[in-house]
Order: sequence, then structure tokens, then C-alpha cells
Amino acid sequence: MKNENNKKVMLTGVRPSGNLTIGNYLGAIKNFVERQDSYESYIFIADLHAITSPRNPADLKKSIYDCIAMYLACGVDPNKTIIFKQSAVLEHGTLGFIMTFQTKMGELSRMTQFKLKSQQQTKEGVDTGLFVYPTLMVADILLYNTSIVPVGKDQQQHVELTRDLAERFNKRYGQTFLLPDVYVAPIGNKILNLQNPNEKMNKSDSGNNKGTIFLLDDIAVARKKIMSAKTDNFNSVHFDEERQPGISNLMSILAKITGESFQSIEQRFKNRGYGEFKKEVANEVCKLLEEIQSKYKKFNNQEFLDNLLFEGAIQAQKTASTTLSKSLTALGLK
Ligand code: AMP
Repeated sequence: MKNENNKKVMLTGVRPSGNLTIGNYLGAIKNFVERQDSYESYIFIADLHAITSPRNPADLKKSIYDCIAMYLACGVDPNKTIIFKQSAVLEHGTLGFIMTFQTKMGELSRMTQFKLKSQQQTKEGVDTGLFVYPTLMVADILLYNTSIVPVGKDQQQHVELTRDLAERFNKRYGQTFLLPDVYVAPIGNKILNLQNPNEKMNKSDSGNNKGTIFLLDDIAVARKKIMSAKTDNFNSVHFDEERQPGISNLMSILAKITGESFQSIEQRFKNRGYGEFKKEVANEVCKLLEEIQSKYKKFNNQEFLDNLLFEGAIQAQKTASTTLSKSLTALGLK
């Protein structure tokens, strides 16, 4: 399905649940930015997804502004992309509710993210938000007639659930939703924790943040994190995620930033030590962070961001309300 301007729709979102990491950038935002000319593009602050577990309201509010400023600093262009806050478009909540009712308990129980995160919550009980947030994500995607959703590997399953539920709804109630495709880039789709390269790099890092590169990290601190990244004893810069997860992770970071192939990296660092290789990765990461941080300061102005979000919500709501209305009619509620 194409929209008025004859372009297909691309959409993605990030939770304002702490400072964005290089994993968010390389796994999702960079892929979005590189394609924003080719699609009718929407990017949103997934603020409703940030309250699946209790949050300090003042921190959350700050994170929302930080997140939009970071989108802009990473190259999201408001002249090409509609930027909005999820909670400002009320259709998300309503369609999310409707899509929850199309879903089996078993389907949500099988979501890998739920299984992983619910294990960490067993003491006080598992939050329902953690269980049902994938159906809100289904609504986020379907409301905009989205064709492509660039996400990291951890979110792939949720986009697949979106397809399943859209198909189910269409079969039950008539053709209403477009089935989206997921875009998981071949490189950088799961950036790993630098200190524990068996785990994804997350905004919350139990190891004093030493394994996570935040986009706002002090440059010297970021350099140190790369230089002390955990590797192995093979002394060979070689891409092998099973045997050499730490080195392969650093290779993915370098390749995704510069566009260089794994083969070329292996060739260049043949018979050179890990120290030299890490230094090169650190240089590229620091260059990237410097560029992003200098732009971030310019954009982090509340009045400017409020205006941008206001305009974005009006535009997003136009499409969202048409789709919601279509689904209400299909259900017999309108
Ligand atoms: P989140 O921070 O969980 O809201 O994720 C926002 C986007 O960043 C999603 O598309 C994730 O799949 C992606 N993402 C988060 N962490 C990583 C990572 N370590 N590597 C690659 N992509 C990631």
C-alpha cells in the first residue's frame, strides 16, 4: 500500500528508557536514516512502552526530550520524517487494546523478550506491561500502513507477531491492515555488551556501564570501554560469532560504522595485535560520537522540540485515525 505521495511507509521507534546506546544507533536508527528518502517515514518516541515497568516521571520526561534530540543528532531529518510521541496519538492505545483481544496467551508467552525480562522480575511478580507490550507494538506498526520496520534482531519476533495478527484480523473481519516486513540489517543487528559478549548491549548495564557505549558517553570514557573490551586468546582478527564473540562484535561495530567488509578488516589486521585493532575501532566510535554529540547540543532545546512534536503528532494522527476508524468499522463498532 502506498500513501498520497506514492511512497511506501517506513516506521520505527525507540523507548525513552535511559540514554541511547550505540546498539540503538547501529541496529535501528542508522538503518532508518539511510532509508528516510525512499519512504514516507515515521519515527516515534515509544513512551508508552517505557512505562511497562514503573518509572520516575521526571526522569522519563527528560528522557523523552533527550531521545528526540538524539534522533535529530543521528540524522533523522524532520523535513523528510514525521517525528512524534506515541502517547500524543491516542489511537495507539485504542488499537493496542483491540489487538490484545486478537492474541492468544500462548503467543505472548512465547515472545523471547518476555521470557528473558520476566525472569528478572520474579521476586515481586511479573508486570503485565511486559506481557502485553508486543500487542501495543502491533498497533504502532499497523496504524500507519507500514511496509517496512527497521529494528534490531531482538524486535524481529514482534514484527512477525504483527504480521500474524494483521492476517488474523483481516481473515476475521475483512481486509483492513497491511502486512509489514521487518528489516533486520545483516550487520550490527545485535551489538553485544563489551564486557559480556554473550549478552546484548542494553541501556541498563548491570556491570557499571563498562560494557555499554552510550551515544552521550564522554569521548575518553568511550575509548577506554573499547580498549578494555573482552576478547579472547586466539590473537586473530577473525569473524566467528561462536568462537570469538568479543572480536566479532568489535568487527561488526567497525564494519557497520565504516561500511568496510569483514574480509577487508581481517586482511588489514592479519598479523597485527588486538591492541591495534581495538585502537582503530575506538577511533571510529569516538569520531561517530563526537559528530553526534556536537549536533545533539544544538537540538536539545525544549521549545524547539515541543513545536516539532506538536506538528508531528498532528500529521501522524491523520493517518492513525483513518486506520483506527477502518478497524472500528470492520469490527462493527462504528
Ligand atoms: P529499545 O531501546 O529496546 O527501545 O530498542 C530500540 C531499537 O534499537 C530496536 O529496534 C532494537 O531492536 C534496537 N536495539 C536495541 N539494542 C540493540 C543492540 N544491542 N543491537 C542492535 N540493535 C539494538
